[in-house]
Amino acid sequence: MSTPLPFHPSANIAELRESVTIAVSQKAKALKAAGREVIDLGAGEPDFDTPIPIRDAAKRALDQGATRYTAVEGILPLREAIAAQANARYRGGPSIGAGDVVVSSGSKQSLYNACVVLFGPGDEVLVPTPSWTSYYEMVALARATAVEVPGDPARGFKVDVPLLERFATPRTRGVMLNSPSNPTGSVYSPDELRALLDHCAARGWWVISDEIYVRIAYDAVAPGALDVATRRDNLIVVDGVAKAYAMTGWRIGWTISPTAVAKAMGALQSHTTSNPATVSQHAALAALTLGEPVESAVRRMVAEFKTRRDAALPILRASAQLTVLQPEGAFYFYLKVPGADRLADAGAEFANRLLEEEGVAIVPGSAFRTPGWVRISYAAAQAQVVEACHRVVRLAARMA
Ligand code: GLU
Repeated sequence: MSTPLPFHPSANIAELRESVTIAVSQKAKALKAAGREVIDLGAGEPDFDTPIPIRDAAKRALDQGATRYTAVEGILPLREAIAAQANARYRGGPSIGAGDVVVSSGSKQSLYNACVVLFGPGDEVLVPTPSWTSYYEMVALARATAVEVPGDPARGFKVDVPLLERFATPRTRGVMLNSPSNPTGSVYSPDELRALLDHCAARGWWVISDEIYVRIAYDAVAPGALDVATRRDNLIVVDGVAKAYAMTGWRIGWTISPTAVAKAMGALQSHTTSNPATVSQHAALAALTLGEPVESAVRRMVAEFKTRRDAALPILRASAQLTVLQPEGAFYFYLKVPGADRLADAGAEFANRLLEEEGVAIVPGSAFRTPGWVRISYAAAQAQVVEACHRVVRLAARMA
């Protein structure tokens, strides 16, 4: 047999790092399959099943033949429903049409599409840090440079205009925003968000506003960019059904953008994946249009996340060894662990030891470019979340 062809990764992915959020949950699943008892608080994935009316609608759609290709950018009724909901929130101009919406295979693909069509070699993109692990990689896959903008933990790591300006250069082309935030759970107020959007518009910077957690907020309604923006010629809103409707596996996300950007993303998608799964689009349509039967399920899930947060936060806060942010939305605790100021990556050491010694999987903050911190998902049963937080506190005491 001839020698196998050696694999040298192409320049496209030479720097690519695997998704740590995905890797942690896969490792937890593998350990469970091997018989170990693991509490998995790694994945940012609701533990609820998709509400029944949505599943029923998907079954009906299948029976009615929803098995073929659709338009690359998604079926028209879904794009119209997305546009109608967006218009109900948006006071500026021009109004949003179905042609401004591209439906993709998860908001992850939507974000990637946006990065690839907007940014390229030589461009810099400001990424408030910590941010979700994939922003940095997606910007790099677009061959642009992600510029980390380190937030202040005392402000829940939120950024403001002066801070963005400290990292701006003539090459700055865009900013990634995410509220409620993964991993911090912070929520920008309407005034904070408006100030950022106004400034980015005045500077001619693109804003990619990832609003996948916008319906999961506990203390006040979380504004989306379209609630406060007065113009949208520089704005790409990314959302999807995964988190609010417990539909992670259906893989449906979307963008709302200026028409020209939507056309470019549709063209890109026409060469990569074509339309997202047809039956999933019908399920998403049901999620957005069935009204009360679905809305009541969403309210119940959000209320349950809040109950878990309120049960577990005091346990973490009682530890003198931990600094714990107040999560106002999403379903994550973000905390600084012992040794953060001393060790190169105390968060990774903490997460590794927590899995080995206490059987709890969480994500090290280095995934979000803040070593020394860790992320705990509370999208799991309350008893598990509470038990895991006691174990976190126990390990913190041992590591102090
Ligand atoms: N976004 C979720 C998380 O941060 C799901 C996993 C992923 O796609 O990164 O855990």
